Amino acid sequence: DPRLQGISDAIRVVPHFPKQGIMFNDITTLLLRPRVFKDAVDLFVERYRGMGIDAVAGIEARGFVFGPAIALAIGAKFIPLRKPRKLPGEVISEKYVLEYGTDCLEMRVGAIERSGERVLVIDDLVATGGTLCAAIRLLERAGADVVECACVIGLPKFKDLYKLNGKPVYVLVESR
Ligand code: IMP
Repeated sequence: DPRLQGISDAIRVVPHFPKQGIMFNDITTLLLRPRVFKDAVDLFVERYRGMGIDAVAGIEARGFVFGPAIALAIGAKFIPLRKPRKLPGEVISEKYVLEYGTDCLEMRVGAIERSGERVLVIDDLVATGGTLCAAIRLLERAGADVVECACVIGLPKFKDLYKLNGKPVYVLVESR
């Protein structure tokens, strides 16, 4: 698809951010180009429209940039999966291991309203897949049927992990 090159070109790669040795893929430069931003959303919408998706679950924070636009276009609800202690009321949480230390995602109890709801998980980037795995576990514990995970960017060195807990991961472009 000719739109993918424009998306790849619009992502800025920043060496040594947030620390030495990390090549950071920055999607904020893509967001500055409305045509390209729309192309990215449209590609997801074209893939997931008509698949009976009930909910799009976005991972804080950059999953909140793409998720709601996709949800509105396919007629699904949007569920924010948040970092700890951000959501009021009763939540369920799922810890996951990072390169250094652990992190956690939380979801409001009641976000999944009936067992078997079909959910798409969205984030900006998949590296090891640890974050997406935690999102899948969280949603499945609440009774959801996770159909697929989708990210704008995939890191090719982790490509073997692009199927998480048996769930497929769809990426638009690979990191340069
Ligand atoms: P994983 O859990 O190892 O797959 O890492 C993916 C998570 O880390 C996602 O929530 C990403 O937003 C974040 N992340 C890792 N590397 C980058 C990057 O280069 N740019 C933007 N986000 C990143």
